Amino acid sequence: MEEQPYLSVIVPVYNEEKNITALLDRLYPVMTATERTFEIIFTDDGSKDATLRILREKARKLPGVRIIEFNGNFGQHMAILAAFDLCRGEIVITLDADLQNPPEEIPKLIREVEAGHDVVGTIREKRQDSFFRRIASRVVNITTNRMTGMQMSDYGCMLRAYHRNVIDNINRCKESTTFIPALAQTFSANPSEIRVAHAERAEGESKYSLYRLIRLNFDLMTGFSVVPLQLFALFGVATALLSLAFALFLLVRRFIVGAEVEGVFTLFAILFFFLGIVIFGIGLVGEYVGRIYQEVRRRPRYVIRNMYGFEE
Ligand code: UDP
Ligand code: MG
Repeated sequence: MEEQPYLSVIVPVYNEEKNITALLDRLYPVMTATERTFEIIFTDDGSKDATLRILREKARKLPGVRIIEFNGNFGQHMAILAAFDLCRGEIVITLDADLQNPPEEIPKLIREVEAGHDVVGTIREKRQDSFFRRIASRVVNITTNRMTGMQMSDYGCMLRAYHRNVIDNINRCKESTTFIPALAQTFSANPSEIRVAHAERAEGESKYSLYRLIRLNFDLMTGFSVVPLQLFALFGVATALLSLAFALFLLVRRFIVGAEVEGVFTLFAILFFFLGIVIFGIGLVGEYVGRIYQEVRRRPRYVIRNMYGFEE
């Protein structure tokens, strides 16, 4: 396995001690059966359980398994980016560790890349997640497509394949927050999407709390579009025009029927509504400013403590 591998499989792992053995038991035979050279890179994203120990044991026995050990929890997307930087395959596949993405689907992805598609996205068939997650995803998929002008059916599914050209371009990006499927889409000349099976998480719980999900979606929305800011500006203009019309109406009314006094609370309601929008808008501007601040600091996006299996 010393020559340059043809396939790189990338798996970010965070406290997945219960899933790794089952994952490798299914993934490794699939990769061997492709009869292509391959490497499997795990990024241990600061796990606090036995994940790293189990991985190192496996790596000793299974040729081609490599491990990147992070110095803390930098998030799933950073874990994948670190592996993008170190992988050498012509075709690169990402996959979750919890067996929600069946490894048996990988040959389909490979065929699709070999047919000339440089990014292969996936649509989860019969998705096995909570009702809330499914609804939230649908909203995100629709609004993101509208805002960015991209066409992707399922932003959230991380079982994906990329051609080396796209990986090289992603590696040239140094932004400190990102959303990999959207980033890859911007570099893709000929993307495609296929349907893949989806399973319930094998063991353990989702590593995304509601808060982390919201943060991630801000990364997606503000990272790939300024439409939220532009909409907000448009809304400001519309509001100003409407209140001007309203003032004119009150002026005319004053001459015809005299000054009005009732409806004070209606005005309060309207006022609070606009106040809410204004506060939201300031927060939105803050999101962008915060991101600009992160970028200008130019801190390292992740810190690798150790690497195993990368001899050269
Ligand atoms: N993950 C990670 N770092 C994190 C959170 C998640 O590396 O901070 C990994 C996790 O171990 C799994 C994948 O990313 O392999 C997807 O996470 P999860 O299954 O919890 O997300 P969900 O399926 O609920 O969206
Ligand atoms: Mg999962």
